[in-house]
Amino acid sequence: MRKNLFDDILKLKKEKNAIILAHLYQPAEIQAIADYIGDSYYLSKIARDCEEELIIFCGVKFMGESAKILSPEKTVILPSASAGCPMADMATASDLEEMIKEYPDAFKVCYINSSYEVKALCDVSVTSSSALAILKNVPNKQILFLPDRNLGSYIAEFFPDKEFIFWQGFCPTHERITTEDVLKAKEKHPTVKVLTHPECNKEVRDLSDYIGSTSGIIDYATKCEDDEFIICTEEGILYELEKRNPNKKFYFPEKILCPNMKKTSLENVYDALCGKIDEVILDDEISKKALTSLENMHKLGEMVLCEK
Ligand code: SF4
Repeated sequence: MRKNLFDDILKLKKEKNAIILAHLYQPAEIQAIADYIGDSYYLSKIARDCEEELIIFCGVKFMGESAKILSPEKTVILPSASAGCPMADMATASDLEEMIKEYPDAFKVCYINSSYEVKALCDVSVTSSSALAILKNVPNKQILFLPDRNLGSYIAEFFPDKEFIFWQGFCPTHERITTEDVLKAKEKHPTVKVLTHPECNKEVRDLSDYIGSTSGIIDYATKCEDDEFIICTEEGILYELEKRNPNKKFYFPEKILCPNMKKTSLENVYDALCGKIDEVILDDEISKKALTSLENMHKLGEMVLCEK
């Protein structure tokens, strides 16, 4: 790594009036340089509301797309242009169109981890931190949920009166966590609570003490008086967990890394600020349709927040 790269990025960021956003699964040095770190829901709100005209979004493709849709007048750059999400790629717009024909009355809910073409066909987008709040505000009985069958089945447990139709997508990173891994970790640390992301499969979730989004897991571990936890999600979360809880210990059942989330480097953040990396460009018409789904996410999510 070039000497002083960190300082050069900060200097250039100021000169360009840019903002750097980083997902909690990004490499530690990327989280260290970011202005805001968070899950997809939080970052999408920052991207929508920030004053800066240049957004460097350290994450994967669907995140850059969502930021651009919410702020079409801003320049959004994904420093690692090849960083995609295999789960998002499991749902295509043409397959979804076929499914919609089969279930014409269903309310179409897509996880934010989906392409903007898929979002354009859906009524609302959700994140793992906002999904339960949003679904509470959806009156329809039949819900078509995509692409994550694991998050879908987790949410469905809270809505026994609704009929869910699941897409059979999944996150290959979270699906690698097995019950055997968790049981082994529990054997080593028998009194320690297990905190799990809902992208894990049901068997793993059933062994857990808490299930929640990345930000939910961080909040839980920070507020809880225990000082050790078993964490079932991508290891990038460790950066923020340790930052907020320097005296607590965190164990991972297995080394769980998302190769796409780890593609961002400080070099390409610098290149993005220099204008050497192409900005996110989207089709206008599809973007406008996808915007409705993202705006509904903020509207329906915030309705519940206001009621509290
Ligand atoms: S962790 Fe899973 S859902 Fe998140 S970007 Fe990687 S593959 Fe996609």
